[in-house]
Amino acid sequence: MEQLQKAIEERGSVLTDGVLKVDQFLNHQVDTNLMINIGKEFVRRFQDCKITRVLTIESSGIAPSFMAANELNVPLVFARKKKSLTMTNDVYISSVYSFTKQETNEITVSKNFLSPDDHVLIIDDFLANGQAALGLADIVKQAGATVVGFGIVIEKSFQCGRAKLEEEGYRVESLARIKSLQNSQIKFLQEEVITK
Ligand code: 5GP
Repeated sequence: MEQLQKAIEERGSVLTDGVLKVDQFLNHQVDTNLMINIGKEFVRRFQDCKITRVLTIESSGIAPSFMAANELNVPLVFARKKKSLTMTNDVYISSVYSFTKQETNEITVSKNFLSPDDHVLIIDDFLANGQAALGLADIVKQAGATVVGFGIVIEKSFQCGRAKLEEEGYRVESLARIKSLQNSQIKFLQEEVITK
């Protein structure tokens, strides 16, 4: 997706250990026009599928998922990383190790918001080692619902997330695929090299 790739090239920066900082347009400040177009692109890619809910994880997955859910006219549900005080014990729980924070979070979704007849599109901002994605898929499975596939804004293809999801038979659609962040250079799969 050209607009996204341009945003990454012009407004992204490379931190150490293979982490891409995109808080100019996705993780802190949000480029709403870009999010609208990301939502449309996810819907275009999954147009052959029946989708009844979009599921993501707070907080950075919410902006791109909101736009996709709005286009699909279905509810957006986001998994919480901290159990809210108003939440009862009636929740699905999964453990997710965070790549960037290097800590394990119990993620939770209320049982009210997923049911066995749901067809769920899971969306997240990044795919690295696949922990967040697999945790969300685990929650969908606990609900007896169906995972339609994964919509990823930025896939770091040099990490094993895609392979893990495909091993489980899941469809993965990533709008930008990064093959390397070495030497502070952002290299896209089949794309040109940008030095930061
Ligand atoms: P995974 O669970 O696939 O290892 O990592 C995905 C999660 O970690 C995403 O939800 C995202 O929040 C975070 N993450 C992984 N890699 C990066 C990165 O390079 N930059 C940022 N900003 N977040 C990342």
